[in-house]
Amino acid sequence: KAPIHIVGGGLAGSEAAWQAAQAGVPVVLHEMRPHRGTEAHRTDGLAELVCSNSFRSDDAETSAIGLLHAEMRRLGSLIMTCADAHQVPAGGALAVDREGFSAAVTAALAAHPLIEVRREEITGLPPVDWESVILATGPLTSPPLAEAIKALTGEADLAFFDAIAPIVHRDSIDMDVAWFQSRYDKAGPGGSGADYINCPLDRDQYEAFIDGLLAGDKTPFKDWEAATPYFDGCLPIEVMAERGRQTLRHGPMKPFGLTNPHNPTVKAYAIVQLRQDNKLGTLFNMVGFQTKLKHAEQIRLFRTIPGLEGAEFARLGGLHRNTFLNSPKLLDGVLRLKVDPRLRFAGQITGCEGYVESAAIGGLAGRFAAAERLGDAAAPPPPPTTAHGALLNHITGGHIETIDAGPRSFQPMNVNFGLFPPLAGPTRNEQGERLRGPAKSIAKKRALCGRALSDFDGWRAGAFKAAAE
Ligand code: FAD
Repeated sequence: KAPIHIVGGGLAGSEAAWQAAQAGVPVVLHEMRPHRGTEAHRTDGLAELVCSNSFRSDDAETSAIGLLHAEMRRLGSLIMTCADAHQVPAGGALAVDREGFSAAVTAALAAHPLIEVRREEITGLPPVDWESVILATGPLTSPPLAEAIKALTGEADLAFFDAIAPIVHRDSIDMDVAWFQSRYDKAGPGGSGADYINCPLDRDQYEAFIDGLLAGDKTPFKDWEAATPYFDGCLPIEVMAERGRQTLRHGPMKPFGLTNPHNPTVKAYAIVQLRQDNKLGTLFNMVGFQTKLKHAEQIRLFRTIPGLEGAEFARLGGLHRNTFLNSPKLLDGVLRLKVDPRLRFAGQITGCEGYVESAAIGGLAGRFAAAERLGDAAAPPPPPTTAHGALLNHITGGHIETIDAGPRSFQPMNVNFGLFPPLAGPTRNEQGERLRGPAKSIAKKRALCGRALSDFDGWRAGAFKAAAE
């Protein structure tokens, strides 16, 4: 069989290579280090962890990332096997000895009889005689390849920075304070005239919020990120506040065209708007609120906004160097580029975020590509009720382009329960008592995890039958 060519031996590329080879298909893995480095990598090891050494929570009963760990272990993930073997104490989190972990991944791939590792940079689109390719070159894809991808996808659909506004779980917003309404009740294509959630601030609350922004602890840019282009309406809110205390009231916090039904006679001094972020309607993003404030500071400050006192964040705001595709538009349901299906993408470049998520999407890409090579073209993607499926759905189809969201509204995301189809979950405990507050939320998470693992096993049994035979 002709091999699958995988470009990039990071978290995604390593897992993709392993899964494809374990399915019985030969792989050539092209990694540019040590000949060419990136601004963040320090070694020539495969699957190098460029920053923290944590894979986050390992709790598969109430955490979405722990659930993803569990599903990956069930797929025989190389990344999870090596992480488990090189674990260091970290409470409920899975943290690893980064050198031991990377060395184990590198050794396992080098020893696999179906995998050849080539140390070379791919500087343009892969040659046409590579029939099956997975591009897993990550957030720091080398410039010549990034330029070639941009030429293929178009300028607007390959971003080099993410400018992320915080995303809030819809069911944590207090709708006795906030309300649904579009500015001037305007209904754009597909809109109802009541598409936004609005949170009102009076003058004192606004002034206190601006003070908090100006005083707040910010994450500095890394040296190589310092040339961050503040363009595209992506100015961080704290930079806007520095330009003048009223600037936000004339930008993302403007109060015009909106009437508070809870208090119709009093005009709000400023309003924060949240816009639906996924098709399920479980997540809403804070419009125009990209920020470099430190995470703890964001939580503290944003919870001072009326209606968001109990807000749970699916992700916090940020601004980073990050190469990623507008995947919902460009990729099909099995991660192939629609305009050139021989090219698949995997890892952070597809718009997932995090070591584990990148590896999980790499694993799926490897399995999809292998199934195709084995003549099983119809290998189905995992159902969206699983952590793998929820993440895949975020990348390839779950995101919505709302009225004025613009071409770049798709932003990378960690796996979280807001990406799963909702499930009511139990309302009473075993003693028949009504569940409330945190106990209710935990019961719901347990139900989501239980459904996910059972659906994942069902999918795995069907999807890999052909490969196993
Ligand atoms: P990578 O792991 O970066 O792998 C891509 C590989 O492709 C690299 O080995 C690179 O050398 C190679 N490559 C690039 N271009 C070419 C080419 N043209 N030819 C051949 N090879 C090429 N996530 C977390 O969960 N925790 C963190 O603490 C964390 N910190 C981060 C810090 C920084 C500075 C950055 C940029 C990202 C961070 N992330 C973090 C996000 C993300 O999880 C990691 O970047 C993750 O490594 C992404 O996996 P990947 O496989 O998609 O890319």
